[in-house]
Amino acid sequence: MTKVSLLGVPHDDNSSHLRGSAAAPGPIREALWSDAYGLVTEARVDLAERIVDHGDIAFDAATDPWETIEARVGEALDAGHPLISLGGDHAISHPILRAVRRRHPELTIVQVDAHSDLYDSYQGNPRSHACPFARILEEGLADRLIQIGIRCFNADHDAQIARFGVEVIPASVWRRSLPLDLKTPVYLSIDLDGLDPAFAPGVAHPEPGGLSTRQVIDIIQAIDRPIVGADIVEYNPGRDLNGLTAVVAAKLLKEIAGAMALTNS
Ligand code: MN
Ligand code: MN
Repeated sequence: MTKVSLLGVPHDDNSSHLRGSAAAPGPIREALWSDAYGLVTEARVDLAERIVDHGDIAFDAATDPWETIEARVGEALDAGHPLISLGGDHAISHPILRAVRRRHPELTIVQVDAHSDLYDSYQGNPRSHACPFARILEEGLADRLIQIGIRCFNADHDAQIARFGVEVIPASVWRRSLPLDLKTPVYLSIDLDGLDPAFAPGVAHPEPGGLSTRQVIDIIQAIDRPIVGADIVEYNPGRDLNGLTAVVAAKLLKEIAGAMALTNS
């Protein structure tokens, strides 16, 4: 039986506007394991015995958090299962992908987000959560980056998109039938602000005009290559309404885990 690893990455030091996403893993786990919801995915994958939880990363002041994240993600990956990381802000995708890339020489990133997160630097911080995909592409940590749901544009990002050859599918043109034409294993990075704030209000940067929960699930289910890693980032419990966004994050987690089980078996 294909198992799926889970790892909490409670780190939000690089949020530009509002911190709080470091508190995300707990409420998402609570929603995942709540008696109120089932553990069978839409494709009938029963997750009850499949999830191997590696707990939350503990950070210490003496170690660069990027080294800590890369090391802990590497340990989790070496357990041999695809890994879902729970952020934390989107900055953490950079050290996560350092560990993933070392184990997966062919890799396509599918990113769901309102924002391209491609700034060379933001507010003087090259590790800002507005920058991770610039760092990832500079270091060659993926062969392709496909961004879905984008609806914030500017000249800085346009230049970076051209420089790195990023494939952008704006929220305005995404359709279920759109082929992604995937040819390698996939890393799926889901920034919850890719969803419309009506579906996922608990984020630091709610951006109207986004994808529905259904549409993001459709994206997950459309991936026809092995999903070897994923992250769900930018959940901010302090901004949530009735825990709705935690339930949405847990639902996406389940569908990703189910898709991992199907695509890796
Ligand atoms: Mn975003
Ligand atoms: Mn993002």
